[in-house]
Amino acid sequence: MKTIGVLTSGGDSPGMNAAVRAVVRKAIYHDLNVYGIYQGYSGLMTGNFKKLELGSVGDIIHRGGTILYTARSEDFKTAEGQRQGIEQLKKHGIEGLVVIGGDGSFKGAQKLSEQGIPCIGLPGTIDNDIAGTDYTVGFNTALHTVIDAIDKIRDTATSHERTFIIEVMGRHAGDIALWAGLAGGAETIIIPEIEFKLSDVVGRIKSGQQRGKKHTIIVLAEGVSNGMDFAKLIKEETNLDTRVTVLGHIQRGGNPTAFDRVLASRLGGRAVELLIEGKAGRAVGMEQNKIVDYSFDEVFSLPHKFDESMYKLSQELSI
Ligand code: ATP
Repeated sequence: MKTIGVLTSGGDSPGMNAAVRAVVRKAIYHDLNVYGIYQGYSGLMTGNFKKLELGSVGDIIHRGGTILYTARSEDFKTAEGQRQGIEQLKKHGIEGLVVIGGDGSFKGAQKLSEQGIPCIGLPGTIDNDIAGTDYTVGFNTALHTVIDAIDKIRDTATSHERTFIIEVMGRHAGDIALWAGLAGGAETIIIPEIEFKLSDVVGRIKSGQQRGKKHTIIVLAEGVSNGMDFAKLIKEETNLDTRVTVLGHIQRGGNPTAFDRVLASRLGGRAVELLIEGKAGRAVGMEQNKIVDYSFDEVFSLPHKFDESMYKLSQELSI
């Protein structure tokens, strides 16, 4: 293998730049040429490529977002879109690809691998919803952003003795809500993995108030309900006014934490090694602090890990 490409796809996540840097530097260290493919699979289809040098990825390890830009492309899901992408790769002499993104991006990478372009997936998404890795790149930074917000909201919640609902990202996976809720001392955590009972939520608010709690913080994953609808439910049930904060896209931005930079660097380096070893159709990950890799089929078929004991603990600690 003489030439590889790297792209970022799907939702951006902090640490993607550190991963791009690792891929580029590791490739050049091993005397490979490396192309940056801009705007994800959209740019792959149109040939939006640029050869990257050591300096192209200087001064980005600490930056959120992605210098390669990212995109979602319906066209790439079609056989014709993939044919165009492969044609562009061949035109540039690119023999292998590192795809940084979520499970949708991995599906695209699997299609390319099946059609003779070796691809390695690198999990970059704040949701922590990919099997085959304990953490995805960006999750840790997003968590810190959410905790920072919860701490600030807690100050005002205590001062005004109010109940706050904090809506966080997580359509199918509640990891951000669960970890942030536990780390932020939330009274209630509502996540897609556990069906909630309104009577329990209300019961916890009431018992907290009875024993003199000055505030109640409810962390709600967006996949369960939006914050305003949830506030209405509580109002109907208890006549209690709540305040709603939707954290939204601030959870995606910001400088990556040291953890995410290290994770991204380790995964990026390993992804290039796998291509050099002639591997294809696999995703890198970290399990128990070891760098591992699984076939895309394994990643798609393994269940999303959800630590129910952590949820139970959060309930026990916030009685
Ligand atoms: P996030 O977790 O942040 O949403 P993601 O990678 O899961 O990231 P998606 O929008 O699901 O985000 O996928 C990104 C892109 O990957 C899509 O826009 C599409 O171009 C490509 N893709 C997704 N699914 C497939 C598929 N089945 N076949 C080919 N390409 C796909």
